[in-house]
Order: sequence, then structure tokens, then C-alpha cells
Amino acid sequence: MQRRILFSITAVVLCGSALAQDNNVDLLIQNARVVDGTGSPWFRSDVAIDDGHIVSVGFDLNVNARRIIDAAGRVLAPGFIDVHTHVESSGSRDGLQKLPRADNYVLDGVTTIVTGNCGGSEIDIGAWNRSLEGLGINVATLVGHNSVRRAVIGLDDRAPTPSELEQMQALVDKAMLDGAVGFSTGLLYVPGTFATTEEVISLAEVASKHGGVYASHIREQGAKLHESIDEAVRVGREANMPVQISHLKIKGRTRWGKIGDAIELIESYRRQGIDVVVDAYPYERASTNLGVNLPRWAVSGGTQEIAARIGDDETHSKIVDDMKEMLDDGGYPDYSFATVAQYRPNPSYNGRNISEINRLIERPATTDAEIETILDMMVEGGEAGSMYGASMIYHYMSVEDVDTIFRYPNAAVASDGTIMEYGRGQPHPRSYGTNARILADFVRDRKVLTLEDAVRRMTSLPARTFAFHDRGIVRPGFVADLVLFDPEIVADTATFEDPHQYSVGFDYVILNGVMVVADGAMTDERSGQFIKGTGAR
Ligand SMILES: [Zn+2]
Repeated sequence: MQRRILFSITAVVLCGSALAQDNNVDLLIQNARVVDGTGSPWFRSDVAIDDGHIVSVGFDLNVNARRIIDAAGRVLAPGFIDVHTHVESSGSRDGLQKLPRADNYVLDGVTTIVTGNCGGSEIDIGAWNRSLEGLGINVATLVGHNSVRRAVIGLDDRAPTPSELEQMQALVDKAMLDGAVGFSTGLLYVPGTFATTEEVISLAEVASKHGGVYASHIREQGAKLHESIDEAVRVGREANMPVQISHLKIKGRTRWGKIGDAIELIESYRRQGIDVVVDAYPYERASTNLGVNLPRWAVSGGTQEIAARIGDDETHSKIVDDMKEMLDDGGYPDYSFATVAQYRPNPSYNGRNISEINRLIERPATTDAEIETILDMMVEGGEAGSMYGASMIYHYMSVEDVDTIFRYPNAAVASDGTIMEYGRGQPHPRSYGTNARILADFVRDRKVLTLEDAVRRMTSLPARTFAFHDRGIVRPGFVADLVLFDPEIVADTATFEDPHQYSVGFDYVILNGVMVVADGAMTDERSGQFIKGTGAR
């Protein structure tokens, strides 16, 4: 119905304006408070859009528009660019192939996502690109170290042979030619955790040749945070490429309040001329697999080998000793900081922390008994993609540290989330609410950030690092990825208790010049694009 009205308006305007000057445009947004993405103060303006691009920015534009939106004092900003997502289908995740409209992101104001983070990606980027149909969002991808290593040498804890290293380099090279925007690592995870820094550099160099960025889930985010930042910077320096430290955080109660030292370390590198920036999500809780609670030596080789170690008495007790040490090191008295997001063998665990699960299954409230529960879940939960045992939520960070990160000017906003099947599991709310939460909680309610600075962290800052040179700013010639919202209303509604809730307040989301959200609702237009890196063939 709406579409038919649009057509008739179009016809009338076209007839009328064919006689006038050549200033017909697809869309005119009038009287907006433009927050242009650069961090400059908002200004009142009209914005004209034609053929997928912004063609004019100025007061009282004299154009013949096929459609007009009266912004009436609402904020018009570039569509948000989320450079840290995981949207390939894997394990329990359905991904962008099954849900290409990406409702949870689009309704949070996001128009571009970058996937393939933390070392996990598709390997045949060309085939993946061709498999994506009906995209309701722009997508770019990194090529992941863990995926490449797994394809060539499996999950073993060993170095590659020279010929295996060459095969890995060839996979990275092909991925970059097929359009990857950079190289990612997840040096906490199997099998990337078994790699030396030299191995990472020799692969990053291949991505660097094609103009890629190095995005890293660094090796350790607690006691060895600073050494891990040093390692990421070394990769960038030696491979000659920009560095994006993914989801910056400091883990463990014993270290809360100290993220400022890590930021000072990063700034010291920038003063030396190293291009290193960070991204983060605005929550104190993280989300990853259950296996991160085990020592790295215990998780090599895949689920059967892990189960065999857990089943062997002597190795079992070594694992338990190491786990107690890790728990102690983080300053946690028990595993109540670890909540199940999705455990496939027994969904009644979903939403409960490990201490609560022990009460549920009538085990004692001791560290030993909680560790046994984790080890049982590791064996019975198996592997689903990168999710060993179960998908989990961890209360790792403090509010103060998260605020400190977002006060750092070079911290972009990124969800670390995924495509959500509405209602499934008890996931982290970040996939639904990251950007709205920044605008509501950090800007409007607590005034940690100005609106202009917050928008910059969601738009031009990540666009710059990932070389999306024609996106992320409201400026003539740039792609018309735009979002219109009321700054008094915009809010995240997804919570840890009730995560399947869309953000509110984004009235229009315009993707490559086409409205994918109008009057606050999805239009089902599919104007998304696969964005290739600058070195693609
Ligand atoms: Zn990660």
C-alpha cells in the first residue's frame, strides 16, 4: 500500500520537474539536527539524497524530492558502523545467511557490520559473498587466523611446518583478493592460542600487502594485558598495518580500576607513530564460551581430546588445580560471575550462573563442585563452532573501567554481537542494544559522552580504521547510510534478564539511499551490500 502511494507521488513529481532544472532527488530530509559523524557540533540542515548518495547538505535546499521526511528537530547521523561482530553461521548461530535482514542491528541504527573477528571467519570469502542474498545491512569481513590455522593444521598445539605456513599465507592472500578488509586473531582461543607472534606476523604481512587492518582479540586481558597489547602492536609495526584492539577490557576484580594504565600504554605507542585504536561495548559483562575457564594446554585437539583429559584422573586434577589458580587470580570467590547463555544439552541451565546450577542439580556450594559442573558441561556440551561446552556471559569488568574506555577518544563503539534469532536462548543484550545504550545511558542519562562524540565513535572513527572512505560522515558525495532518531526517546530495552528486545527511537534507517526502517518499523527493503577491502581484485 505504502509502496503504491510512493509510486504515484514519484510519477507526479517526475512530470512536474522534468520541465524545471535538473534538481530532482530521491529523498529530502528537512530541518534535521545533523550530527555529521566528525565530532563537530550539530547544525540544522536539510540533506538531499539521490541514487544512493548524499548529494546536498544545506539550509532550505531547493530540490524536487520524490519523498520528503520532516525531521522536525530530530537528530540525523551517519548510519552506525559496528566493526566487531560475528555473523557467519557457526554452531548454534544462524548467521547472516539465514537472517540477512539483521533486524537486531538495523533497529539499533547499524548500517554496516564487520564480521570475521577474534580469528574466526569464513575462509572462502568469495564463495561466502556469493552466498549472501537479500542483505538488509552492509557487511564486510576480516579473514581469521584461527579459521585459517584450523583448515591447514587442525586444532593441535604445535607450530606449522614451512609448507603449512605457506598454505596458510596462500589462504590469507586469496581471502584479501576476494575482498576481506583485514586479518583478525583470537589468541585466547584454540587453535590461535598455540601460535607464536612470529607466525601471526608472517600472516598479517600478507593482509598488509592488500591494505588490510590487523584486528586482534589479544592473547590475555587480565594479568598479562599489557604484554598482550605489546604483542598486538608488534604485529602492526612489523607487518606495517593499522591495529584495532578488539573489545578492550580488563578482566578480574583484582585488576578493576586499572584500565587507564593500558590506555596510557596504547597512547605511548601512538606517540611513537603506531596507528593503534580500540573498540569496546558498553556493558560490564562479556560473552564467550565455557572453555575459557580451562587452562590453554587442556583445550587443544578438539572435543574428544578435551574429554579424554578430563576423564583421566591425573590430568583431571591438574586441570582442577589450574582452574583454581585462574579463579583466584581474577579475585573471584566462586563461579557465580559465570552465567549460561545457551547450553544445548539442558536449556534449563540457560540464564543461570554456575553456582545456581549447582543448587539446581543438588551439588554442594564449593569451588571443587562448581569446577566439576563446568568440566561435565565441557564434555556433554561438546563444540558448536567456537563455543566449547556452552555459550556464556561473564561479569568480568567494572562500570568505572568501561566508562574510562569510552572517555578515551580513540575507542570506537562495537557490539561483539551476532545476528539474533528472536527469542532463542538467553544471549548477551549487546547484539540488540549497544548503540542505543550509548546514546541513552552514556550520553543522555549519565553524560559520560557528548552526543557528537558518541556518534563519532560509531561512525567516522571506525570508518577511518577500516578504510570505508565514503561512509561514516554526512557529507555530499558520501554513501547515504543514515539514521534519524529522537535523542530524548532513543533507548536500549534489551537486558540480561530479558535480552530479546529491540532498541527504540530510531525512526528512519537509510541504507545506500533506501529506507530499511520507516516510522520505526522494518520496511523489508534489502539494499545491503558486501563491502570489499581496498586491496580486492
Ligand atoms: Zn573476541
